[in-house]
Amino acid sequence: MAELIEVRSPYDNKLIGTVPHGTSADVDAAVRAAHDALRNRPLAQHRRAEILETAARLLGDPSVRERFATLISSEAAKPIKAARVESTRAVGTFTYAAIEARTLAGDMIPVAGTDVGVGKLAFTMRMPIGVVGAITPFNFPLNLVVHKVAPAIAAGCPVVVKPATQTPLTAIALRDFLVNECGLPADYMHVVCGGGSDVGAALVDHDLVAMISFTGSPDVGWGIRAKAPRKRVGLELGNASPIILEPDSDWRRAAKAISVAGFSHAGQSCISTQRIFVHRSLHDQFVDELVGHVNALNVGDPSNEATDVSSLISISERDRVHQWIKEATAAGASTVLGGEIDGTVLQPTIITNATPDMKVCALEVFGPVVAIMAYDNFDDAIAESNNSRYGLQASVWTTNISKALNASTRLEFGGVIINEVPTWRADQMPYGGLRDSGNTREGPRHAVHEMTEERLVVVHTE
Ligand code: NAD
Repeated sequence: MAELIEVRSPYDNKLIGTVPHGTSADVDAAVRAAHDALRNRPLAQHRRAEILETAARLLGDPSVRERFATLISSEAAKPIKAARVESTRAVGTFTYAAIEARTLAGDMIPVAGTDVGVGKLAFTMRMPIGVVGAITPFNFPLNLVVHKVAPAIAAGCPVVVKPATQTPLTAIALRDFLVNECGLPADYMHVVCGGGSDVGAALVDHDLVAMISFTGSPDVGWGIRAKAPRKRVGLELGNASPIILEPDSDWRRAAKAISVAGFSHAGQSCISTQRIFVHRSLHDQFVDELVGHVNALNVGDPSNEATDVSSLISISERDRVHQWIKEATAAGASTVLGGEIDGTVLQPTIITNATPDMKVCALEVFGPVVAIMAYDNFDDAIAESNNSRYGLQASVWTTNISKALNASTRLEFGGVIINEVPTWRADQMPYGGLRDSGNTREGPRHAVHEMTEERLVVVHTE
């Protein structure tokens, strides 16, 4: 009898469900079955598109989306309104993956452009790379799994998913949905639940896994990269997202947007707005405005329709973030709102007089905390934004178009967002970072490219 993992609500510890704790033997069986499916039962390109289109259409039904949203909310303590946004976004991810499946093609190669190629025709095809191992985090239990599974289907790759230990139920429900309702052959998606160091490591080590697609924290991600030099390893990692507010910006709109972008899912988003660089001339008014909005957020039970901010994923995470706030305060920062623990919840927190060396600025907080720093000079704000081990997305707010475009060339990030929060993401865009934020881009088009290999075909025509 398999050992069971209990999935409990991070908010009130209520038992949500149980899943079997996988073993390395389960990983091996899943990978072998997936590999056999690829080799002996390849998925025709039009079938991949039909499956993905069906998934997008069925998930577009409000009752199906609600089913997933409820599960996400209960296992991740994500406020139900944010969980609904996540399940709606997954429809877009499937839609764009379906487009890739319909249009995936290689290139003609102009070999006759040199003497050696006369009498020859050459083209490339994009072939599935092989079995994809997908290792996913807890914070988007549906959409970040879809960001790996949907492109894998489009590419023709079977996928073995190791979901975050805290959020396996949504991944299992997704597999049931794809196999039972959308026509995905059963061996094209497996889910093996368990810990990172046992089940995750077994997936990384398996010889028949061609690619690991990982989303999670930098230390784990780079560790996987080092352990698997012969595999393709795509890493989507963390950030300490900066935002720069110039004197000519619509900073009141920014304050309202940050009150969502810094606190949604208790700040547990890889692009949660975290470091706020505000021009000194705006500082006091901006802080007042932001405090007003954040103070109005509803804190509590994730299943409550009104809740904006709920628990962190675990008590230890709550305590870690609380400790970082205390350290910042001890080092001279001011906590102008929040900073206290209330049951399993850490109150939304605004820190001013922060300095770059404080953990709340230098590291990824992954909690409901924003740190504000005043600046005098735009160049300094750019330099300080870049002064980070992370480089996922950054944002600058100004009505001066030259300044905005200048910033977009100087901010060393995978994405620069102008007059919108750095937390903004559309699922079809190339999304990924530099430095400790990773080594790849996600979004169906880019992921399908990563999950396929070019096969060259040369034909002698004379
Ligand atoms: P995590 O790194 O602790 O875990 C991620 C996954 O890796 C989990 O499934 C975990 O079980 C597994 N894992 C852990 N150790 C492993 C090992 N040795 N071998 C194989 N697998 C292992 O991350 P988390 O706490 O679940 O998620 C938070 C992190 O994810 C944050 O840093 C956040 O910024 C990042 N994140 C990035 C993106 C992005 O797209 N860039 C999106 C969401 C989250």
